[in-house]
Amino acid sequence: MRIAIAGTGYVGLVTGVCLAEKGHNVVCVDTDENKIAWLNLGRSPVFEEGVEELIAKNRDRLTFTTDYRAAYKNSEVTIIAVGTPEKKDGSANLSYVFQAAIQIAKSIERDTVIVIKSTVPIGTGDKIAKIVNDNLCHRVNAEVTANPEFLSQGTAVKNTLNASRIVVGVESEEAERVLREVYRGFDQEMILTDRKSAEMIKYASNDFLALKISYINEIANLCELVDANINDVAYGMGLDPRIGGSFLQAGIGYGGSCFPKDTKALHWLANFHDYEIKTIKAAIEVNENQKLKLIKKSQKYYDSFYGLNVAVLGLTFKPNTDDLRDAPSLQNIPILLDDGAHVKAFDPIGEPNYRKVFPTEVEYCESIEETITDADICFIFTEWGVIKQFDVSKFAQLMKNPIVLDGRNCYDLNQMKGQGVVYESIGRRTIV
Ligand code: NAD
Repeated sequence: MRIAIAGTGYVGLVTGVCLAEKGHNVVCVDTDENKIAWLNLGRSPVFEEGVEELIAKNRDRLTFTTDYRAAYKNSEVTIIAVGTPEKKDGSANLSYVFQAAIQIAKSIERDTVIVIKSTVPIGTGDKIAKIVNDNLCHRVNAEVTANPEFLSQGTAVKNTLNASRIVVGVESEEAERVLREVYRGFDQEMILTDRKSAEMIKYASNDFLALKISYINEIANLCELVDANINDVAYGMGLDPRIGGSFLQAGIGYGGSCFPKDTKALHWLANFHDYEIKTIKAAIEVNENQKLKLIKKSQKYYDSFYGLNVAVLGLTFKPNTDDLRDAPSLQNIPILLDDGAHVKAFDPIGEPNYRKVFPTEVEYCESIEETITDADICFIFTEWGVIKQFDVSKFAQLMKNPIVLDGRNCYDLNQMKGQGVVYESIGRRTIV
């Protein structure tokens, strides 16, 4: 099939290369000329394992362009995968989605199925159907469908090629037929619903995972107060198939481009309908507090960070991505800087993006050793493999004052015993 995609971010680009891998001819469109220039060189503008390999492998079935008119004109299917960031009031900013819809409507010259892959509030498909119909320039039929995305950054290609499910919200048999054709090469179960239910499946799923994280974080906080170990507790809980072991890792809260905004957007939507969704409200509040947990713990060691060397390991919101959106580091490092700390930071992939936010305020290091040398305290914000595999005996050897505050439970407590460090993590006993 001829498929066009609006947006070459984490979702649009990964979707594009995976659909090309399955044999479709795909045109990826972006308004960002730099991204398209990179892609035309065979390079991925986002760090995501496997993308560049799939671009190279399917080069003859992939086109990258800013010329949306040419891209949408004759496409059989056009997928909207642009961003839906958070507005100040917590609702979803739909301006990029609406703009893409107008561009598609004005360009198409044949019957098309428009697929909304961006995460959009329930009812947005209806709005887009109206926008499209109002802006069509040719006598063509454009069916609007919902097909939310469930990939995780860091494993996006793998998740897309082996998705847990494909959710499709359609309002006509013709749209269903076309979507079945798009996903013919995929083995997963296709769940067919109406458009609004598909939109709701996305929010309900993401918000449930956020809730699970906030729940385990609260249990972790209680573990600290009663001297229990959250790792053992989570393991014991997760073996129950009704609960499941995933998303039970206690830490300094969720970040990223989805959970924070999708919880707030659903909360906003519920309020808009005069309903308070209490569980999600609690998940948001718990997460906000959790993000500052390490800073609060550090107060028992120092009244102020003024003049201290502070080491930070991990800047991205999770490992294996270069994405900083809503990463705990963005909330914590400014507190350290404002208090007069000298901050040295290490992140294997996220540094270039962090430099765009803090070009000179932070000293960036090439290695963990360089970061922790002479440090008065060390904060761990992201559980990168290289950090988890670090030789922990070096903390005491290199730091001026070996206090390690680990927001991701990177190390086993037994491993930290007798290392000459003060080691605090989340939901576990302090090692001194
Ligand atoms: P992103 O910010 O990485 O990418 C969005 C891209 O769209 C940008 O490159 C931007 O330049 C481009 N764009 C904006 N307006 C455009 C237009 N009119 N035409 C063409 N391109 C345009 O966003 P993302 O992380 O890929 O997320 C996209 C959507 O998918 C969001 O709604 C998000 O909630 C959802 N989602 C994201 C993830 C994830 O892990 N990132 C997972 C599931 C769902």
